[in-house]
Amino acid sequence: MAFELPKLPYEYTALEPHIDARTMEIHHSKHHNAYVTNLNKAIEGTPLASQSLEEILKGISKASAAVRNNGGGHFNHSLFWKVMKPGGGGLPSGDLAAAINRDFGSFDTFKEQFNNAGATRFGSGWAWLIVHDGKLVVSSSPNQDNPLMDIAEVKGTPILGLDVWEHAYYLNYQNRRPDYIAAFWNVINWDEVAANLKKA
Ligand code: MN
Repeated sequence: MAFELPKLPYEYTALEPHIDARTMEIHHSKHHNAYVTNLNKAIEGTPLASQSLEEILKGISKASAAVRNNGGGHFNHSLFWKVMKPGGGGLPSGDLAAAINRDFGSFDTFKEQFNNAGATRFGSGWAWLIVHDGKLVVSSSPNQDNPLMDIAEVKGTPILGLDVWEHAYYLNYQNRRPDYIAAFWNVINWDEVAANLKKA
């Protein structure tokens, strides 16, 4: 079965003023859509066509650049849309809050590390909160790579991801990536991140 562009769980306008509707529309309907289309083209007629996206990513060192870029792009954006919601933000609770305190010392230290990961990723890429050997760790990756890939510098299961490609913020924030990263904290869907932790 070919991969499909997932519907957003909210309207394009829903994350305003933190992420503007035009950016969301282009990002989802053009960028993410292109990753899905090009992934399907790249795996058509190959053994990868019968694998799950996670299986493909775990063996990505053996796949083509087109599969790596577009498979990563499809996975990363599918996660990204779901870890945001209108009226999100605030603080995590329950097991997630406890795990953050256990592994970072405090929420503020985690936030600082995550902001730094996003701000210092040169060029295009992603900032991540991942589960690595049962511990929460902050990392970042270039382009559309992600921590599930066997080529990742820091491997693990991503439970929160932030797209720091310019296409994710340039219309509203231009070169001010740190302002976009700061705004992201107002739309994080902590329930989804907590559910991702439970599954990891
Ligand atoms: Mn993107």
